[in-house]
Amino acid sequence: MLPITESFIEVNQFSRNGQQLKSTKAIVLHYTASPGAPAINIRNYFNNLRMQNLQDQSVDRYAGAHYSVDRTTIIHQIPDTEVGYHVGSKTYTAEALSMLSKYPNDCTIGIEMCIEKDGVIHEDTFQNAADLAAKLMISHQMQPHQIWTHKGVVGWKDCPLPWVQNPAEFERFKKTVLSKAFPKENEPLCEVWVKGKATNVPGKVFAGEPYVAVKAMVYLLKTQFKFDDQTKEAFINNVKLKTFRIDQNTGFVQARELGHILGMNLNWAGRATDIEFV
Ligand SMILES: [Zn+2]
Repeated sequence: MLPITESFIEVNQFSRNGQQLKSTKAIVLHYTASPGAPAINIRNYFNNLRMQNLQDQSVDRYAGAHYSVDRTTIIHQIPDTEVGYHVGSKTYTAEALSMLSKYPNDCTIGIEMCIEKDGVIHEDTFQNAADLAAKLMISHQMQPHQIWTHKGVVGWKDCPLPWVQNPAEFERFKKTVLSKAFPKENEPLCEVWVKGKATNVPGKVFAGEPYVAVKAMVYLLKTQFKFDDQTKEAFINNVKLKTFRIDQNTGFVQARELGHILGMNLNWAGRATDIEFV
């Protein structure tokens, strides 16, 4: 992975208000919409927004993401713990409102991907952004479904445009991030269906039984989770998980036990890759 160049912009009302994030629920990917401009230009653009004058006639712009990434550099321009103005909108998607907050700038980290002169996201930029997202995913204990696009948060903005035009690229990005974050867990990844909706979570088969990564499932099912650091015991809705086990730093639970605790049945075809909770 490239080194991260720390070059924080100055605290100012237009691009870095200095307030703390309330929590960190998602990483949001953007594109710069500025063909050929390198990451340093994006960082400087955000920094220069501070020169705007509230008193003059021109319209003031509020903008700032935490990172800018191009083919050869990753610039960290707003600390991860602070608010960036990167997904502010009058309206948000229902998914963002339920999974993030009413004002997702207060719980997300923004990454700007630079584009080439012809408007494409270069593969090196893609890989650098994936390296960065994987690093953030690990340090903030996130799962792949916590990686969003700007479009996914607000609905109306075509950002990153190349991924709006080709959604398979966003899927490839999430898979790339996962393989960088958890190299050994990438295989097998199991597809879990909950109430008709599919999500990829780390899954394994132990002793002929399907197991799923607890934290990913807890987030997906919005249940309560507790882990006792001393006894290494895990609880969901205050019920101790009998089949909880830690494998390569990830906690897994038998899918059947999880279903039982949550009052759901399990359909499993016997392959690691397809589990349905009904
Ligand atoms: Zn954007």
